[in-house]
Amino acid sequence: MKNAEWIKRSEDAFIGTYNRFPAAMVRGSGCRLWDADGKEYLDFLAGIAVCSLGHCHPKVTEAICRQAGTLVHVSNLFHTPPQIELAELLVANSFADRVFMCNSGAEANEAAIKLARIHSSQGRYEIIALAGSFHGRTLATVAATGQPKFHQGFEPLPQGFIHAEFGDPQAIEKLISPRTCAILCEPLQGESGVRPLDPEYLRAIRSICDQHGLLLIFDEVQTGLGRTGTLFAHEQLGVTPDIMTLAKALGNGLPIGAMLTTDKIAASLTVGSHASTFGGNPVAAAAAVEVLTVLLSDGFLDSVQEKSRYFVTRLEALAEQYPHLAGGVRGAGLLLGLVLTEQGIEQGAAIVAQMFEQGALINFAGNRVLRFVPPLIVSKEEIDQLVGKLRSVFDQFS
Ligand SMILES: *Cc1c(COP(=O)(O)O)cnc(C)c1O
Repeated sequence: MKNAEWIKRSEDAFIGTYNRFPAAMVRGSGCRLWDADGKEYLDFLAGIAVCSLGHCHPKVTEAICRQAGTLVHVSNLFHTPPQIELAELLVANSFADRVFMCNSGAEANEAAIKLARIHSSQGRYEIIALAGSFHGRTLATVAATGQPKFHQGFEPLPQGFIHAEFGDPQAIEKLISPRTCAILCEPLQGESGVRPLDPEYLRAIRSICDQHGLLLIFDEVQTGLGRTGTLFAHEQLGVTPDIMTLAKALGNGLPIGAMLTTDKIAASLTVGSHASTFGGNPVAAAAAVEVLTVLLSDGFLDSVQEKSRYFVTRLEALAEQYPHLAGGVRGAGLLLGLVLTEQGIEQGAAIVAQMFEQGALINFAGNRVLRFVPPLIVSKEEIDQLVGKLRSVFDQFS
């Protein structure tokens, strides 16, 4: 069956929540995807920063198949070896002592919100998040998200979330009251346009938390797991959170999320206070164990940093060549954004559509930057190919 027929069937059967590219993807390998018409794509979206080891990484596929033939699900009424191995790996390689497992980024943030509230108690429930942030689509995480467009029509939202202006520690301080229990932020805002938080700003947030006895929650759902060139983005910023959430890349495509914290804070969640039927499912956990093993293997994260420097140089050269369209490059590791000029922003959606025509997948984040989140195994040749395609598309808009 061809694209056109799949697309018609899809549009007839689905609730229209997505604006999808006009392709039915049927196969993936490394940084490549193929649609039902046999067209090949160079994938710099990686399932929205999910398939960090590339599509169908042999070790992950092998682990999934092995586990699927052994034990798929028993619920968290039992211990299972894959999720224990995963929890140990996460703890051994982070600030955290303990883990809760779930199935998505929003769920990991829900767990963090519940933990922050129950740990603080005594009338303290309010969480300060940042303008422009993205934390998920469940009611509580949408309330935490600092973008009004995601709130519209869903009011009343759960109470207890307020948003501080981006970039100014004093704006946060002004919002603190006897109700405040935590500050929640992404070390680098992904969805709203690859916006890094200044290390100094993050350090100020940490010290505000310390002064006022607040918990610091880092949403590393997008930035975590090697995406920015270190296992977690906060490692290169010199700021350690009290709670961290992960999801996207954790299962390289299988749905799994995690919320990590210290022994002391974890003690506030006791038997029966939180749970997930599927969380840490053996198949997803077996995939995640392989993901972490590869990310932690010798030289892997160094190679991400090296490819990042190469990609940034190429994008900066492109921005110089097309100053009417592009203004500069920002981001970290292989979470990069090409910031568009006013004129470029008008063409942003058209540039992404033209790239798709040319067989290259990127997206337009926050209506301001072209976002690149390729698999971390991307080669320099593939980076060159992507930049070459961008150049030819930019020529069409010049
Ligand atoms: C994608 C994302 C989420 C939501 O994750 P889901 O798995 O879609 O629920 C939350 N926070 C950040 C920073 C994200 O990028």
